[in-house]
Amino acid sequence: MDSKKVRTRFAPSPTGYMHIGNLRTALFTYLIAKKNGGDFILRIEDTDQERYVEGAVDVIYNTLRDVGLNWDEGPDIGGPVGPYIQSERMGMFKQYAEELVKKGEAYYCFCDKDRLAELRDIQQASGITPMYDRHCRDLSPEEIQKNLDAGIPYVIRQKIPTEGTTTFHDEIYGDITVENSTLDDQILLKTDGMPTYNFANVVDDHLMGITHVVRGNEYLASAPKYELLYKAFGWEVPKYIHVEHIMKDKQHKLSKRDGDASYQDLMQKGYLKEAVLNYIALLGWAPKGEEEIFSLEELIQEFDISGLSKAPAIFDPMKLKAINGKYIKALSPEKFAEYAIPYIKQSVKREDVDLDRIASLLQARTEVFTDIPEQVDFIDTLPQYENSLYCHKKMKTDETTSLEALKQALPVLESIDDWTEENIHNALFSLVEALGVKNGYILWPVRVAVSGKAFTPGGAVELCAIIGKEDSLDRIRKGIAQLS
Ligand code: GLU
Repeated sequence: MDSKKVRTRFAPSPTGYMHIGNLRTALFTYLIAKKNGGDFILRIEDTDQERYVEGAVDVIYNTLRDVGLNWDEGPDIGGPVGPYIQSERMGMFKQYAEELVKKGEAYYCFCDKDRLAELRDIQQASGITPMYDRHCRDLSPEEIQKNLDAGIPYVIRQKIPTEGTTTFHDEIYGDITVENSTLDDQILLKTDGMPTYNFANVVDDHLMGITHVVRGNEYLASAPKYELLYKAFGWEVPKYIHVEHIMKDKQHKLSKRDGDASYQDLMQKGYLKEAVLNYIALLGWAPKGEEEIFSLEELIQEFDISGLSKAPAIFDPMKLKAINGKYIKALSPEKFAEYAIPYIKQSVKREDVDLDRIASLLQARTEVFTDIPEQVDFIDTLPQYENSLYCHKKMKTDETTSLEALKQALPVLESIDDWTEENIHNALFSLVEALGVKNGYILWPVRVAVSGKAFTPGGAVELCAIIGKEDSLDRIRKGIAQLS
């Protein structure tokens, strides 16, 4: 494989849930590859059977495809370094563990569960972090052979130097140095011959030619052990990019319980996928300029590792909403209507209204689609409302002027034969002119009377046109009665 070509991988575990932190990892991983003309690889890390969830791999595929993070190699499309599902790679690790034993970088450990449990108990009781006591580290070749011949189950452990320090480099955190004495002789190969996760991911990344590893910083603590493994094999260490957690607030990580932690949660809440992807790019990454709205193509151009932050990013639903609003405004009216109509229909059951017209009134004032049902709920049924709604300082309207205005508007509207927006507009504006009053004197009370709401998509003219002549007149009469 061409060693210079940038190759990155997204290695999710199929949990049935795409946390936006994971999706952000996928995005950064993708951007690093694409920015450098490299390959983006999808590897499914499904060896933790306890976490296995039916259909979870589809959640990964569908989410990535949905947002356009298309992989160049992966379980479904194959590639030169497959298989791309970790559980299908299990057979290949034993030889690598044995290679390390031969090099003196790993060793057989025959300690049984009981001994290890006892050791852990003693260490815990004395307040020491549980670590393997290296009991089998210096067994003689004869002892090892004897145990192997006797069929005693064994694991293979990493032989961590007992002295000195290990330094690894992270592109965001810089050099990090740890005392080797704090590192455990971790298990690489289990008694069943299967690798541990910590071993498998290093070998897999090497065999797949991965040049940049982007992962959550919960893996930072394991990185020195990974570093020592690469060195033990004599393999080139990839560039590490550990990204900070996404927080709900200063103290708490954004978690499943919060209800907007996953991509699926956000889709259900009516966000646009392009807006979500744009927003999560900004969680922990700062573009060079002021501009924050980026398509995926633009992100590829703009993205730079140096813009990644060490500080945890706080998930800000208001900002996501604002960005979503910008994407919504940029939609063509047809596309907006296509998205909006199902939400309009949640409130509007009557069939005599022009849904496209309603949608067109909503586009400028919608930040997220789930706001829509509440905005149009007055169309089917006039809500109960307070007379104070008629009072508007700037329009100089109060209950008395509004009663007057409604009484004047009623006959004018009654006389319209062809109930079109244009005719309603002309009728009401002629009245305004004839009375020599401000527009709001007539339009505000009419709008309140037909909607019963403080805020509506569109004004008096549009709302009257939407709900129809009969309903409009009926609601204005109700307003007159309520104000009298
Ligand atoms: N399977 C790991 C996870 O989902 C990935 C860790 C890594 O990227 O190295 O957390």
